[in-house]
Amino acid sequence: MQPTALNTLKSVFGYESFRQGQAEIIDSILNKTDCLAVLPTGSGKSICYQIPALVNSGFALVISPLIALMQDQVDQLNQFGVSAACLNSTLDFAAQDDLYNQLSHDQIKILYIAPEKLLQPHTLNRLLHFNINLIAIDEAHCVSQWGHDFRPDYAQLGTLKSYFPRTPIMALTATADDTTQEDIINLLNLQNCYKYIASFDRPNIRYIQQEKFSALTQLKDYIQKHAKQSGIVYCSSRKRVEEVQAFLSRHQIKATAYHAGFTLEQRKQAQTNWLRDNVEVMVATVAFGMGINKPDVRYVVHYDIPRSIEGYYQETGRAGRDGLDSEALLLFDESDIERVRWMISQNPNADRAELEENKFSSMVSLAHSQTCRRMVLLNYFGEAINQACGNCDICLNPPQQYDGLEDAQKALSCIYRTGQASGFNYIVEVLRGAKNQRVREHQHNKLSVHGIGKDKSPEYWLSILRQLVHCGLVRIDITDNAHLKLTERARPILRGEVELKLALPQIDKAAVISQKEKPWLKQNYDKRLFERLRQLRKQIADEYDLPSYIIFNDATLVDMCIKVPDSRQAMLKVNGVGKQKLEKYGDLFLQEIASYQHRFD
Ligand code: ADP
Ligand code: ZN
Repeated sequence: MQPTALNTLKSVFGYESFRQGQAEIIDSILNKTDCLAVLPTGSGKSICYQIPALVNSGFALVISPLIALMQDQVDQLNQFGVSAACLNSTLDFAAQDDLYNQLSHDQIKILYIAPEKLLQPHTLNRLLHFNINLIAIDEAHCVSQWGHDFRPDYAQLGTLKSYFPRTPIMALTATADDTTQEDIINLLNLQNCYKYIASFDRPNIRYIQQEKFSALTQLKDYIQKHAKQSGIVYCSSRKRVEEVQAFLSRHQIKATAYHAGFTLEQRKQAQTNWLRDNVEVMVATVAFGMGINKPDVRYVVHYDIPRSIEGYYQETGRAGRDGLDSEALLLFDESDIERVRWMISQNPNADRAELEENKFSSMVSLAHSQTCRRMVLLNYFGEAINQACGNCDICLNPPQQYDGLEDAQKALSCIYRTGQASGFNYIVEVLRGAKNQRVREHQHNKLSVHGIGKDKSPEYWLSILRQLVHCGLVRIDITDNAHLKLTERARPILRGEVELKLALPQIDKAAVISQKEKPWLKQNYDKRLFERLRQLRKQIADEYDLPSYIIFNDATLVDMCIKVPDSRQAMLKVNGVGKQKLEKYGDLFLQEIASYQHRFD
């Protein structure tokens, strides 16, 4: 590693050391070798091209598919004192000329560009005359038909090598299986390519899963425990998004909504409000998130079960890009699962339906699995790990087994005696001795099973019934209004001929696990000081009309609370405070820290 690279990391970005892979990838570019880097979200891909861009003369060309993301990167770099710009079709001719003029005067170190813009002959011809020190291709999986996000413009990027034969190319992505990796190297004509493939794991994300009992209340309670933190709630439909957002707002939770049915203007407004921390919660369909770079998302909730593990992993991956503790909560429900299965089966294209059904089945087995979630996830992506992670609901709160025969018999006979003609809720009502109209009409209050479970809560019985479905003793008959039916295997249980172990229902599991100490953030820091610094940051951000994280991210504020700097020199040691940011904001934060410390004088 060249010493200048590390010096640049420290003086410009204020970071103490390189993260996994960064040094190797930067080295390969400094040695003029093409490279392919597959690094998970939040691992710091941008630093990999930003450092060589600054260390070498000339400028770096960065190809990125999303204009919104480019502007965000440019804003961030400008805050670090790095001159960056983007060239895209929204610029008029005068602005473009101005930009070329700055490039010819070495006034720009990093130029972002969209692929379709770059490939225009006019643009290529002009760029050929400049000293481009590297070409970085972000979201490089888009070149491959095998990836999940193929873009025809990206496939054309293979010609770049012939235009710029001596410029090293860096292909970056967070998702690429073996086939996609080979495709990227071949289609982009990368030469003697250096490959850096990092682990897929996101150790700072805690995976939690919980069955739905009264889902809206569960969600509200969970969010209230994460007050003042930024989060995303994914729902499966536009209607759900609106319902959930309205419910949260009625409970004084600042939430905004986003889905493809809103106008562009409405969507932009919602996104800005959330990015700028004017609202805490974004309730959205999966249409939201691509190109969103907010580093301090502390939790991602799936209010409905996603269709595939790939989707689930990508969406949960939006939590904790800054490396701080974050959570991914999945709420699910047997009837949701059946509903999705039914929807998939309605697809007239049988091959497509089968593929989707397979993907969905993997997702369902993740939801039902009783082993470490991270092991299931990483193994799904072909990364063999055999050690439990210690940071998921199963590891932190292992399911407790008990002798469930008697509970099972009560529930099964209730289904049987009521004629196998109702769903979960009605069975729970009868078990708990409800005397509502339907019960009386059917004279179910006269049955021996009526009220035999009144010592337990509705949630308790719901959990037992669902477990009976999982173990194949009960099935949900979707051809008959999703009524519960006994299977053959229920017989020996009813006769008491076999044993049955069930998991002890855990009703407020998500809340309990969420409260457990996070192993990854060992340091203790003053949360009140953090809150004061957070408010100061918001004031400054509003003044500059920027999102807070562009001023300093949460990791930097936490480090300030740990190091409690009392001088400019000490401030410069804080992770994420480089020279430029020290100049701009250092004194304001030093003052705030000093006034906090002397608040009792
Ligand atoms: P990715 O593109 O891989 O999702 P980013 O490039 O957006 O990740 O970086 C994620 C976060 O990590 C950013 O806030 C960035 O400033 C920070 N970061 C990157 N490299 C380092 C480092 N070496 N030390 C500390 N923070 C870093
Ligand atoms: Zn685990």
